[in-house]
Amino acid sequence: MSDKVVRLSRHSTLGTKPMVSNEQTTSYVKRAKQLNGGRVADEIKQEVAADVRRLWEAHGVKPCLAAVRVGDDPASEVYVRNKIRACEEVGILSEHHALPATTTGAELLELIKSLNERSDVDGILVQVPLPEGIDEAAILEAIDPSKDVDGFHPQNVGRLAMGRPTFVPCTPAGILELLRRSDVEIRGANACVVGRSQIVGRPMAQLLIQNDATVTVCHSRTRDLGAVTRQADILVVAIGRQGLIGKDHIKPGAVVIDVGMNRITDEAAVRELFGEDAERRLEVIAKRGYTLVGDVHPAQADEVAGQRTPVPGGVGLLTVAMLLQNTLKAARQRRGI
Ligand code: NAP
Repeated sequence: MSDKVVRLSRHSTLGTKPMVSNEQTTSYVKRAKQLNGGRVADEIKQEVAADVRRLWEAHGVKPCLAAVRVGDDPASEVYVRNKIRACEEVGILSEHHALPATTTGAELLELIKSLNERSDVDGILVQVPLPEGIDEAAILEAIDPSKDVDGFHPQNVGRLAMGRPTFVPCTPAGILELLRRSDVEIRGANACVVGRSQIVGRPMAQLLIQNDATVTVCHSRTRDLGAVTRQADILVVAIGRQGLIGKDHIKPGAVVIDVGMNRITDEAAVRELFGEDAERRLEVIAKRGYTLVGDVHPAQADEVAGQRTPVPGGVGLLTVAMLLQNTLKAARQRRGI
């Protein structure tokens, strides 16, 4: 098994702390206000960078994240590269274990075991999906729960369900931070989560319940999806179907969080989805070969929603920021700091 390891160590290159606007409201506007995931993600990264510096100065400790990737999936490669780069930005050490697609489950388990045993590794991340033939659940369960910075280990999933302190999966944790830091009132709100995956939908619903929202979860078997989603003051969509949630699904003035990341290349689809922004998106396709669209129809949502997250520039950036926060938390907790 070839195992390429890249170790990186650098201090923060982030700029000054950006301001978060307080003027966002959930009232009806003609064009929905964009919830700026990038700005909140930068804010979180700056906080992590400052805490990482303090940890080093007070205790001589630098957190270290080990990221494991198997196979050649281009999207996974990009995700892991972004995570490693983000570690560099905030002064967290990182290792990238890039394993060939031929890696067996037993070989992967062996690597996880060695990372569990290493005292200098604080966080372990296994990029999913894993190639077919590897038992993903067994691999995630093999990670030491105290290093489980993705929050996918059953022990951490159970703690979240019980409302006890734990590592919360990064995407829903990032969405909660975005809502809080954008002054969205969660307490007492009707919240609807569309999608019930282990990594987004279910933990998102748990977090909203803990924050006193009244929560409904929808999925592919939900009857009359629009009738349910139109009740939501906060609508979180994580299904992986481009632009499925249109204006008939959205309550006027609602806060709409679009988790979906779908690649599109088709000009007609771009024109239909993006309206006046279509030309800019077509330029992106000409340059990159595709553009990203969420699960929410952007042009239609803008007509009805009060606020919404764009894709890209919304939830994705927050996911990486929360991974850094979880890695810092692991480094502290493991040393009783
Ligand atoms: P997933 O595991 O495939 O789950 C999709 C969920 O959507 C399932 O619960 C499914 O219902 C439900 N669903 C599918 N079609 C539906 C429909 N027509 N109506 C209602 N519900 C429907 O997906 P995931 O991992 O949660 O990811 C969802 C999307 O978010 C993907 O586009 C993914 O790329 C993106 N994502 C983004 C980030 C980020 O950082 N921005 C992170 C994670 C995921 P059933 O359970 O009944 O099958």
